[in-house]
Formats: sequence, structure tokens, C-alpha cells
Amino acid sequence: MDTSFFVAWMEEIATAVQAQRDHLTQLDAAIGDADHGSNLDRGFGEVRRALADSPPETPGSALLLAGSTLIRKVGGASGPLYGTAFRQMGKSLGDVPDVSLAELSTALDAALAGVQKLGAAVEGDKTMVDALAPAVRALAQAVQEGAKPEDALSAVAAAAQEGARATIPLQARKGRASYLGSRSAGHEDPGAASTALVLSALRTAGF
Ligand code: ADP
Ligand code: MG
Ligand code: MG
Repeated sequence: MDTSFFVAWMEEIATAVQAQRDHLTQLDAAIGDADHGSNLDRGFGEVRRALADSPPETPGSALLLAGSTLIRKVGGASGPLYGTAFRQMGKSLGDVPDVSLAELSTALDAALAGVQKLGAAVEGDKTMVDALAPAVRALAQAVQEGAKPEDALSAVAAAAQEGARATIPLQARKGRASYLGSRSAGHEDPGAASTALVLSALRTAGF
């Protein structure tokens, strides 16, 4: 996976978030403040523009630029959390020009660690961690089994989607939705839903 793969990933994310903008905002309307779709649509639009304005030379620098742009341009909880996730991935990849599945797995693990360090959420708190953590495990397992890249990335997408769906019955313990207490149950977490979109875009970015 070279630099153009990671730029294509960001473009796939921007397209998916734009298409799902209203859906993400509706999820956030139910248990938050109805801005998640617009936050991410604006943010990934800015990422797309930043990558076009200063084409990155390595996968790592593409992810660092994406992360910094999200931190700068997206208010709310999700900007710093996604920004940190991409920045930690970028740092983990360093200046490797062509990323192996094992390196991607290590980088995604670093993204999860960054999100958890910043937001202090654990699995089951009804946040983006509930989609990201199972996806990290799915990729690690696929690497261990020597899976083909396309199969590994399909497994990542499936695990994230399943993790997002599994947030529906949960009561939120982090973020705005936690203010609702038990009334947060019965709704999918918007950040988990968007994380499933972000990780599913890996599958459509290449191969
Ligand atoms: P805000 O809540 O500030 O309006 P967004 O609506 O853009 O920000 O993002 C909300 C999402 O952020 C939630 O659905 C949840 O997945 C995620 N989130 C909020 N707080 C945390 C946290 N502490 N750790 C991980 N994810 C979090
Ligand atoms: Mg919100
Ligand atoms: Mg908000």
C-alpha cells in the first residue's frame, strides 16, 4: 500500500462521509447535538483539499497531514479523536514508502491507543472505540493467518460494522451521549458508525 493508496483512502472517506452526512447527523440528533455528519463532512473535505494542495511523499506524511487538518478544522469531540488516530498511524508508519499489512496492523493499533489515551474510553462505553477495537483485532488476526490484503481489509470492515451495530443497546459512558444516561440506549453511536465508514473505505481504496 503506497502513498496513492492512502490518498485514495482519504478520498473514499470524504465521499462516503458526504453520502452519509445526513444519516450521521440523524444518529447524533438522537443522542448528541446533531452535528457529527456536518463535522466530518467539513473535516474530510478539508483533508481532501490539503492533500491536493500539498501532495504527500509517503503514506506516513499523508496520514499526518490528514490528522493535523482534522484537529485544526473540526470542532467537537470527533475532530481531535480522529485527528489523533490518523496522526498516530502516520507516526507509526514513519517514512516507509510501501506499507505491508503487518505495518498497517501496527499503525491501526497505534491509532486505537491514541484515541483511548485522549478520550479514556474503553470498549462498551458506546464510542468510536467500539468499532475501532474489533477492527484492530480483526486485522491482527488476518495478518497472523497470512490473509490476502483484500480479505484482511474486508474482515476489518466487517468487524467495524459489527462493532458499530453492537453499540445500539449500550448506555453511553463517554461523550455527550453519556449526559442522557439510560436514554442513550437504543441508538447507534454516531462516532462508531462513522468509524465503520472510515474503515470500510480501506477496502474500496485499492486492490
Ligand atoms: P460532539 O459530541 O462534540 O458534538 P461529534 O458529534 O462530532 O462531537 O462526535 C461524537 C462522537 O465522538 C460520539 O458518537 C463518540 O463516538 C465520539 N466520542 C465522544 N467522546 C469520546 C471519547 N471520550 N472517546 C472516544 N470517542 C468519543
Ligand atoms: Mg455532535
Ligand atoms: Mg458538537
